[in-house]
Amino acid sequence: MYNKRSDTATEFIDHDEIMASIQWAQDNRDNLPLIKTLIERADDCRGLSHREAALLLECADERLNGEIFALAKRIKHRFYGNRIVMFAPLYLSNYCVNGCLYCPYHAKNRTIPRRKLTQEEIAREVIALQDMGHKRLAIEAGEHPTMNPIEYILESIKTIYSIRHKNGAIRRVNVNIAATTVENYRKLKEAGIGTYILFQETYHKEDYERLHPTGPKSNYAYHTEAMDRAMQAGIDDVGIGVLFGLQRYRYDFVGLLMHAEHLESVYGCGPHTISVPRICPADDIDTRDFENVINDDIFQKIVAVLRIAVPYTGMIVSTRESAESRRKVLELGVSQLSGGSHTSVGGYTDDELDDDTTAQFDVSDRRTLDEVVSWLLDLGHIPSFCTACYREGRTGDRFMSLVKSGQIANCCQPNAMMTLMEYLEDYASPSTREKGLKMIEREARLIPNEKIRSKTMEYIRRISSGERDFRF
Ligand code: SF4
Ligand code: SF4
Repeated sequence: MYNKRSDTATEFIDHDEIMASIQWAQDNRDNLPLIKTLIERADDCRGLSHREAALLLECADERLNGEIFALAKRIKHRFYGNRIVMFAPLYLSNYCVNGCLYCPYHAKNRTIPRRKLTQEEIAREVIALQDMGHKRLAIEAGEHPTMNPIEYILESIKTIYSIRHKNGAIRRVNVNIAATTVENYRKLKEAGIGTYILFQETYHKEDYERLHPTGPKSNYAYHTEAMDRAMQAGIDDVGIGVLFGLQRYRYDFVGLLMHAEHLESVYGCGPHTISVPRICPADDIDTRDFENVINDDIFQKIVAVLRIAVPYTGMIVSTRESAESRRKVLELGVSQLSGGSHTSVGGYTDDELDDDTTAQFDVSDRRTLDEVVSWLLDLGHIPSFCTACYREGRTGDRFMSLVKSGQIANCCQPNAMMTLMEYLEDYASPSTREKGLKMIEREARLIPNEKIRSKTMEYIRRISSGERDFRF
C-alpha cells in the first residue's frame, strides 16, 4: 500500500502506485487541456507530483512538447542562470563483492585489473586534479568489507582535504559508496563530506534483484532505504539517481520522483541532486544485453520534465554523455557537469592505464577540463567551481529555503565568477583565460544588488593580485 511517509521501501516506492501512475498518464496522454493546465501551473516553480510529471513525459503533442521544453529552460534559467558547477570523480578502489550485471567491477569479472589506491597515490591523484583546476570531487569505491572498509574511506577523505598544492584545494568531497549503516553515515558526516550519493539503479524490485544476483547490494530494501539512514545520521545533502536503460524508463522516472517526495515529506528536504546516467558500454558490458536503452530524444525529455517536477534539485550529467548530448541537456536543466574525468582507479596519474579496459564506464566526452571550460564559455555558460554553501553551513533545509526564496541567486552568481577567476588565474590556457575574463567583465555588471556587485568586483581584483577563496 502506497505511503510516502513510510520507512519501508516497498511502501514509499509502491509498485502498484508506479503502475497506476503510468497507466493514468497513458490514459490521459490525449487530454491536451489537462497537460496545458499542468504546464501553466508548473510555471510557478512549485514542482509537480510524480503522476503529473508522468503525464508530461507521456505527452506526444508536438506543440505542447515545445512548451514543456521552453518551460524547463525558463526554470533552469530562473534558478541556475547560466552557471554550471564543475566536478570530477575520483576512483579509490575497484574491489567489489557485488555482482551488478551492468558494471565491469562486478566480483566475477576476472579480466579487469583490481586496484586500490594507497594514501600516497590518492595524494598524487588529488594534486593532478588540483592542477587541472578542480575544487569539488566525487569519490567512488566498490563495496568490499575488507579492502574498502569505512576506515579506508574516512582516511582517504582526510587525505584529500589535507592536500594543498600551489593554489589548489579540494573544498568539497562528495561520496558515492555502497549503502551502509547509520553509524557509518554519522562517521561520514563527521568527516565533512558534501553530498552522499547513491544511485538506486532501478526502482523495480524484481528487476533490481535480477540485476544484483549476489552480494550485499542484492538486498533491495537495505539499498532503497539507505538515504533514510543517511538523513537520520545527519547527512542532509543526498544525491539520488537511476541508471536509465536497466528498467523501462517510465517506471524508473516515476520511482525517482516518488523517492524525492518521500525524502521531502519525511525529512523536510528532498534530494540535493539527481543524476541521470544512461547505461553505456564498458569492459565485459555490452549495452545490447539491455533491451531498455533509451534514445537521445527520450533522454532530453526526461531531463526537461525532471527540471519542471523538482525545480530546486541540482541535476548532474557525467562524461558518459557525448559533448553534443551534454550541450542539449545543459539548456534543459542540468546544473552540474564533470569535466576531464577518468573513471578508472589511478586514472589521473597513471599514463599507462588504458581507460578503455579498466574504467567503470566508457567516457564519451574525453575533452580536458580546460577544453570543457572553454566550450562552456563559448556556449554562454559560466563554469563555476563554487563550493560555498557547504562551507557556509548552507545544507539540507537551510539550503532549500534559500533556493526557494530566490535568495541563492545573490550567492551563486558572484561565487561562480570569483571561482572562475581563480581558475583563469591558476589553470586556464591563454585562449580560455581571454574568453573567461570577457565573460566575467560582462556578467559582473549584471549583478542586480549594488553592494554585492561592488564587493564581487573588489574580490575579483584581489584574486588577480594573488588572494584566494572569497565567497558569499
Ligand atoms: Fe560494485 Fe558498484 Fe560496480 Fe555494483 S556498481 S559492481 S557495487 S562498483
Ligand atoms: Fe552551489 Fe551554493 Fe555555490 Fe550556489 S552558492 S553554486 S548553490 S555551492
